[in-house]
Amino acid sequence: MGTLDGRTALVTGGSRGIGAGISRRLAADGALVAVHYGSNEAAAKETVAAIEAEGGRAFAVGAELGVPGDAEALWAAFDAGLAAAGAEPGLDILVNNAAVSLAAPIADVDEEAFDRVFAVNAKAPFFVIKLALPRLRDGGRIVNVSTGSTRIASPAIGAYAMTKGALETLTLTLAHELGPRGITVNAVSPGIVETDMNSWLDDPAKRAEAASYSAFGRVGQPDDIADIVAYLASDGARWVTAQTIDATGGSFLG
Ligand code: NDP
Repeated sequence: MGTLDGRTALVTGGSRGIGAGISRRLAADGALVAVHYGSNEAAAKETVAAIEAEGGRAFAVGAELGVPGDAEALWAAFDAGLAAAGAEPGLDILVNNAAVSLAAPIADVDEEAFDRVFAVNAKAPFFVIKLALPRLRDGGRIVNVSTGSTRIASPAIGAYAMTKGALETLTLTLAHELGPRGITVNAVSPGIVETDMNSWLDDPAKRAEAASYSAFGRVGQPDDIADIVAYLASDGARWVTAQTIDATGGSFLG
């Protein structure tokens, strides 16, 4: 008997990296998980297969975010996937995890790159949530994946960090708005996590430096973040809302 038995979850960017870790953990806890992807269908199918091999239930949902009509396309694919899985319509847990990085100081960011990172990381979650609300059952959960760089100044990724600042403000606002429905809205802010987004971790010197930022002396793994999201998704977190949970492994404590 899992803590999320009978629940349905959608994890944007659930196909790879942190999102795949979250998808697997929510499925292990009993949820039926919609594993969203943008273009890499094979990765989504791999994650779905891994979940099924572990005895869980999942299906893939493809929709590119950051383009006009993205949220509508995502929810249409979700509704169709749910029906094909023979599940009741509706949703209990939405995890807004999909995002793109923009590793560039302000001097190197042009308008096109700025608009793109905001379209995927801030605008898309806004409209994904907007269209989720009629589907989300009372007592549901919204978890937004932010970054520790909203708290720690990181000039090399300033525009990217701004998108997550917007997401954290949305988290606060929605928590107030959705509280009467028993829906909690929280954010989780990872530090450096070993995913495709950080392929530079393959360099041993850079990896050692990144590890040194954390009080625990290592870089984060997707499961480190997934466990926190699973807690926020659980009944045990029913009294926690509007929070941004630091998931940086105690980075830069002094
Ligand atoms: P990855 O690059 O490993 O995976 C990104 C996921 O998002 C993939 O599933 C990808 O699907 C999807 N995605 C990306 N762009 C789009 C798009 N335009 N449309 C649809 N889907 C898209 O990312 P991480 O796992 O590293 O990051 C996950 C979250 O964690 C992000 O919100 C990120 O900002 C945050 N984060 C990550 C940190 C890290 O160190 N890795 C640190 C702090 C925060 P597809 O492959 O099909 O495009």
